[in-house]
Amino acid sequence: MRPDLAIVGGGLLGRCLAWRASKAGARVVLYDAAGSRGEGSAAWAAAGMIAPTSEAIDAAPQIESMGRRSLSLWPQWLSELPVPVFYRGDGTLLLWHREDAGQAVRVQRALASRNAQGHLKHVAGPELGELEPALGTRFPRALYIAGEAQVDNRALLQAVAIALSQSKVECHWETFVPDGELPNAGIVVDCRGMGAKRNWPQLRGVRGEIVRLHAPEIELHCTLRLLHPRYPVYIIPRAEGRLVVGATSIESDDHSTVSVRGALELLTSAYSVLPALAEARILEFNTQVRPALPDNAPAIHFDRQRNVLHINGLYRHGFLLTPAITEEVLAILSLRDKSSEVVFAAVQDDLHPCL
Ligand SMILES: Cc1cc2nc3c(=O)[nH]c(=O)nc-3n(C[C@H](O)[C@H](O)[C@H](O)COP(=O)(O)OP(=O)(O)OC[C@H]3O[C@@H](n4cnc5c(N)ncnc54)[C@H](O)[C@@H]3O)c2cc1C
Repeated sequence: MRPDLAIVGGGLLGRCLAWRASKAGARVVLYDAAGSRGEGSAAWAAAGMIAPTSEAIDAAPQIESMGRRSLSLWPQWLSELPVPVFYRGDGTLLLWHREDAGQAVRVQRALASRNAQGHLKHVAGPELGELEPALGTRFPRALYIAGEAQVDNRALLQAVAIALSQSKVECHWETFVPDGELPNAGIVVDCRGMGAKRNWPQLRGVRGEIVRLHAPEIELHCTLRLLHPRYPVYIIPRAEGRLVVGATSIESDDHSTVSVRGALELLTSAYSVLPALAEARILEFNTQVRPALPDNAPAIHFDRQRNVLHINGLYRHGFLLTPAITEEVLAILSLRDKSSEVVFAAVQDDLHPCL
């Protein structure tokens, strides 16, 4: 029987959409060029932060509101997965070195201009020490954002793949769908990320380099973000003494391995926050390319002629936005007979979307 939905690209968004659409009762087929672990996706390298206030400093207002919606949806989603996924909602600490105090002022102004300054709390002295003892007395003050979260990206990809295997979703892993060869389905959803670049000319790559460390002697609770004009590094605690340090942001779709410069920048900045990292062990360097549109916001385009819904441009916000986008897409799909054109965010007139 013809499926209701064929999803091409089972990275972060595609596999989550397949899972939720199937739960909503749709017959779904999913195709991905890589394996079920998601190793071909930007999500494989990602840090998994779900941080709407931190991102609001530089992102468009809709990113913040969609991010807040996602933040409220993630715990429910995770509770519905067949295996536990590491998730922590202990908040974000924004830190700066004394010479970069202007960065903290910039952040407060940027959030105030959005009326989001209420999410920031000034912490200093013993209160800061209590919040994150591993920092010692290194930073006299910080800005704290309660409730921001982070999820283990790879554990999540794996858990959703298991959920798909236990559902009625027909998964075709390691199946590259060539341009022009549309699967036969009620509607096709294109979630190929950078794989759609040929068909979505405005799509560009933003290379991100990241390093995974093992430092069991460092006990962190919050996500640490260093406010720095050149090296705004973050340090994220994961299970079993692992830490994620990221990420560079380079206007390029170069997938090659981490450069010496990238490695030095990440490690030097992280070390400036936590000197105890000197004894951490490097588990892995990784590079991936974030799919971005000119305004760094996601877009959905419905190609009515071919019956293809294209969703792309999740940029550095895939984890921040996926539940909200999925919710929106499921609503769109259920309304698709009534709506002639689907507009989610920025839909460009001169798109040439086709698979
Ligand atoms: C270093 C780094 C850190 C990041 N940190 C964060 C973070 O902390 N928080 C956050 O919210 N976001 C973060 N991101 C961004 C996030 O990873 C992306 O926004 C997200 O992965 C995009 O999801 P997607 O499903 O659109 O694309 P992807 O996850 O890239 O998935 C696309 C999939 O399409 C498949 N595909 C491509 N072409 C074809 C084809 N022709 N046929 C079949 N399959 C195909 C690929 O194999 C891939 O699996 C980070 C990204 C990077 C690189």
